[in-house]
Amino acid sequence: MPELPEVETIRRDLAPLLVGRTIVATRIHASAERLAVTHTPRALERTLTGRRIEALERHGKYLVARLDDGRSWVLHLRMTGSLVHAPQSEAADRFERARVDFDDGSSLRLRDMRKFATWHLVRDAREAMPHTGPDALSGAWSAAWLRAALARRSVAVKAALLDQAVCAGVGNIYADEACWLARIDPRTPACELGPRRVTRLHAALRETLAASLEHRGSSFSDYRDGLGAAGWHHVHVHVFRRDGAPCERCGTPIAKVRVAGRGTHFCPRCQRR
Ligand SMILES: [Zn+2]
Repeated sequence: MPELPEVETIRRDLAPLLVGRTIVATRIHASAERLAVTHTPRALERTLTGRRIEALERHGKYLVARLDDGRSWVLHLRMTGSLVHAPQSEAADRFERARVDFDDGSSLRLRDMRKFATWHLVRDAREAMPHTGPDALSGAWSAAWLRAALARRSVAVKAALLDQAVCAGVGNIYADEACWLARIDPRTPACELGPRRVTRLHAALRETLAASLEHRGSSFSDYRDGLGAAGWHHVHVHVFRRDGAPCERCGTPIAKVRVAGRGTHFCPRCQRR
């Protein structure tokens, strides 16, 4: 699933191509049964068409296109969604679920093998993202805020990091990476971390997100940027999907366990409870 660095890379790629453009046609294909959340597919097509995109923003894993009628078109790629900017003349491939054509001859194609992607069209973007806290790259997501949020949670720190109310934008890859950087066992109850360790975790999360952004995201599976290319941060990860390989700090084989139902990778020696 695309996480914060992947969605931000897509946003940065697409913003200069889409902002200022007017939508001249919208087509949600019959195979995209669950894409339109707030409207029927036909009503969403009608409502989007004719609108101009004024800004392309991001909150957590959501992309938010601000429209000239004051509404927000909120896109979430979920498991396998990708957005690719292509000429209108380019043929659809078999996983294309929707397309939006613009007044300059270009189009935006949603590809989504698993079909979990969602589009909302709302007055207030926050309506489309319930239970979502501050974005993990925003100023509001401070170390003090994270300390307060973790102090209230008795779940494993890994589960707390995956909670979008705690760290909007963080998913499995960057939660594991941040715990390794901060030398914290991901199974530790969140409320048991002292203030110094939470501050270290906060810095580690910012560090791993920034490093991935630099590498245009991680392409472990389907992720593609806004131009259709893979990111390359997956070759720079320290623990994620490196189970059995030596820890870069101490040489101990990286272990894999399940935490909060998700495969979790960590060093059993230098990550402490
Ligand atoms: Zn180690």
